[in-house]
Amino acid sequence: MLRYPWLQPYYDKIIHAFEQGYGHHALLFKTEQGIGNDALLRGVAAWLVCQSPKGHQPCGACHHCQLFNAGNHPDFYLIEPIENKDIGIDQVREVNEKVAQRSQQGGNKIVMIKQVDRLTESAANALLKTLEEPTQQTYFLLQADLSASLLATIYSRSQPWLIANPTQAQALAWLAEQNVGTMEEIRTALDVSHGRPLSALAMLQQGLLQKRTLLLRQFWLFYTRRSPLELLPHFEKEILFQQLDWLSGFLRDALKMKLNVPAQWVQTDFLQAIQRFNQKQSTQGLLKASKIMQQVRSDLLQINGVNQEIILLDGLTRLITEVFEPQQTH
Ligand SMILES: [Zn+2]
Repeated sequence: MLRYPWLQPYYDKIIHAFEQGYGHHALLFKTEQGIGNDALLRGVAAWLVCQSPKGHQPCGACHHCQLFNAGNHPDFYLIEPIENKDIGIDQVREVNEKVAQRSQQGGNKIVMIKQVDRLTESAANALLKTLEEPTQQTYFLLQADLSASLLATIYSRSQPWLIANPTQAQALAWLAEQNVGTMEEIRTALDVSHGRPLSALAMLQQGLLQKRTLLLRQFWLFYTRRSPLELLPHFEKEILFQQLDWLSGFLRDALKMKLNVPAQWVQTDFLQAIQRFNQKQSTQGLLKASKIMQQVRSDLLQINGVNQEIILLDGLTRLITEVFEPQQTH
């Protein structure tokens, strides 16, 4: 059994196909981060390397299983972005050369690529060659982010699997079993994490729920006092993008409320504040606020740490002059 029950049906279908002899040599998993896709890919890999699986379960006892479980299987290759850089051609070439040879252990060879959407163009073309002329007993397990665009050629040479997020009930039940907080905390963490249970778990384990409450309170002071300095010192480098996400969530909820969109709220525990905030905002202002936050985010992604504070300060100042008090600037 996989650790994440919502992935089990996909696993079972895929393994069933392999058992019946029509498994595809390149599986492409399109998933969101934070729902445990790693376990699904590794689960399939474990089954493929095992010499005597018991039904859908790897035996756990054969030499291959032992090597794999110890993280030492010589025919299992993992490619992923290193230090958040795109995957370069060297990483792919190195693995290509290895899988072109006979397997070290005489069984299947597995190439697992995380975030295959982040291959550079030349790396993608190098991968394509091996996908087109697969060597015997070589399997590719590719993961791409749900929203990412992917070279059509890679797409067409693999069998795509669209992995849905778990239902709210599945996610809540699983989180409750992990003993990481009260039901209310769990629910909030899951909402804030857009229904992704592993992200919610990490949030609860790392005390991020409290940090988020603090940040949104500071946002409120920033808003009422029109002072960026109430908020600016509370951004933390390590969780900066999460923090931006929390603020954007607040603003998006405000917009949905303004438009009377029947919505699944993200910042459920701040609905009263959102309502009060809303009374003073126009729809246009809220749209503008979301745009400003998007701009801040993309600017931050493109630059190095030195200018981070300036970009944040600029964004917050724009929120004041263009959203909270637009009449004074137009
Ligand atoms: Zn085994």
